[in-house]
Amino acid sequence: MAIKSVAKEAEEILLASEMITLGARLQVLQAETGLSYDRLARLYREVKGCSPPKGMLPFSVDWFMTWLPNIHSSVFYSVYRYMDSHTPAKKSRALVEAYRLYLEQASAGRADEPSGEPVLSFTRAWMLIRFFDSSMVQLSYCERCKGGFVAHAHDPQKGFICAICRPPPRAGKTRAHAAAAVKPLIPLKAVNAALASAKAAPAKAPAVPKRPPRSSVSLPVSG
Ligand SMILES: [Zn+2]
Repeated sequence: MAIKSVAKEAEEILLASEMITLGARLQVLQAETGLSYDRLARLYREVKGCSPPKGMLPFSVDWFMTWLPNIHSSVFYSVYRYMDSHTPAKKSRALVEAYRLYLEQASAGRADEPSGEPVLSFTRAWMLIRFFDSSMVQLSYCERCKGGFVAHAHDPQKGFICAICRPPPRAGKTRAHAAAAVKPLIPLKAVNAALASAKAAPAKAPAVPKRPPRSSVSLPVSG
């Protein structure tokens, strides 16, 4: 009977806890560690304070091809690949580190909603790596920006233009976006009070750029 190393087990528990914090589902933890289902379920409850969600994992390659998820997953995968090949963090470690970096990038410039759901969940990020490992997807390189983007395996590379260089016409025109655009920045009452008390000073509306400048590094967050 093989005796399991205590140090190895401690390492796996630590890894599993970090993954749970980042939003990993139980199936992901089972695949990435040698811990039993019962121990993982207990760990999940300890870390999250609730039972792990049941049901199937999202299994769709097509999800990664729609424009917004495509941008987010391409950023994540580029970071992951760099981590896995150029730093001591390999495989599941690289996944955790790369996902943390992705979260940082995805929330940059969104100080107003820092706790908003990321476009790419941890479980989807993990699925994406599995899709790459099983050659179901590939990186296609944009002819304009030269960036590598997630694409279906065997898609022709010639003439490929990414969703950042050529966003679809509907980009940034969701209902959530429209609602945010019409929501006044300052409550109307405060504006009226300020106008009444300072009639002499010309009222100046705050300048709000319609869309982020091209050089902005923050990722689009709604489709
Ligand atoms: Zn491009």
